Amino acid sequence: MPSIDLESAKALAGRLFDALLARTRDDPGVTRIAYGDGEQAAFALVAEAASAFGAERTVDAAGNQYLTLPGQDRSRRIVVGSHLDSVPHGGNFDGAAGVIMGVAAQSALAAADRSPAFDVTVACLRAEESCWFPHSYIGSKTALGCLEEGIVDSVCRSDSGDTLAAHIDALGFDAEGVRAGATWLCQEELLAYIEPHIEQAPALVDAGLPMAAVSAIRGSFRYRDMVCRGEYAHSGAMPRHLRRDAAVASARLIVALQALWERLEAEGADLTVTFGQVGTDPGSHSFSKVAGEVRLCLDVRSRDEATLARVEDELQSMAVAISTETGTQFEFGPRSGSRPATMAPHLVSMVNDACRSLNLPVHTMASGAGHDAATFANAGVPSVMIFIRNTNGSHNPDEAMAMADFEAALAALIRMLSRPASDWTPE
Ligand SMILES: [Zn+2]
Repeated sequence: MPSIDLESAKALAGRLFDALLARTRDDPGVTRIAYGDGEQAAFALVAEAASAFGAERTVDAAGNQYLTLPGQDRSRRIVVGSHLDSVPHGGNFDGAAGVIMGVAAQSALAAADRSPAFDVTVACLRAEESCWFPHSYIGSKTALGCLEEGIVDSVCRSDSGDTLAAHIDALGFDAEGVRAGATWLCQEELLAYIEPHIEQAPALVDAGLPMAAVSAIRGSFRYRDMVCRGEYAHSGAMPRHLRRDAAVASARLIVALQALWERLEAEGADLTVTFGQVGTDPGSHSFSKVAGEVRLCLDVRSRDEATLARVEDELQSMAVAISTETGTQFEFGPRSGSRPATMAPHLVSMVNDACRSLNLPVHTMASGAGHDAATFANAGVPSVMIFIRNTNGSHNPDEAMAMADFEAALAALIRMLSRPASDWTPE
């Protein structure tokens, strides 16, 4: 039996990254809009690469694509996956690294005539970046047939204003099937979901580690369209006690939540609190006016569901108290969010075993950012992520993953996929 040719697999991945950059370049960086041209180009590129070694290709009602290398036992499967959309002017590796690593691993196994214990399917998932459709994990939820009712007809793409259903149908997929919960991935068949992904923070760079196993993913609640309403007034004439200043009320809420975060952090809770956008309307507001309206976006994340619930409760009470004191009113608008997820311990061990056998440093960490693996884990599919060191963060054109680090993670993935059947079904 020929041995695994890691160099060729890495070279294939390098060619795919280059081609993907060329096809989706949008200086600075790349743009791969969910259900848009860039995402379509990425799907076509990896499908073409997988057809070269005879992978079976299937597409589900929502347009997620599955590329399968047959295993010895075809009744169950191991899924390696990630998403292929990007934020506007994002980097080339966020999402794509996971899919390309899956295809590179399959090609290495196929070239060495190794038939894995079970089918190995690379899942190319749609619409993970919620800047396009403001809803978490659309691709993985449709892949498992668990997209929340009504979402396909209510969520609209930020640039076109058209519904998710309209975009699904426009590309020739089946929105009606998505409404009915149609799936191609049968949950009972899934032994594991493995998502390789670049790290989106500097922890691995800081620690000098090429890769890590991920043990948990933070969940969130978000208010993207909060408004604080007060009353516009003359900045010189209006006395303080008669003001209904939306800027002051918003600032109080921001400071109060920051203080709550500090308190909970001191108690050992895992939490992040971010007001991503805060602003008055320049059309109505000006230098010499008390702010009559402020718009805010709030993103709260934690690994712990109870912490999220506590922060949300306190947020509501703070808003009521501050409104009363300042004569303003907070309107929270639509709420979105995701549940925290725990990765499967036996799969985390498998990643760490692979690192040990390759003489790579062993490291386990949590993910602050959300990923499709959270959907699989919360649906009961044993899941794990492999983080790859990445400089300059992500969601920007400067993200930078070294191919040597990609190679280390690829080697670990191939080791995992080469394990015997009994390792995938622990009691
Ligand atoms: Zn991503």
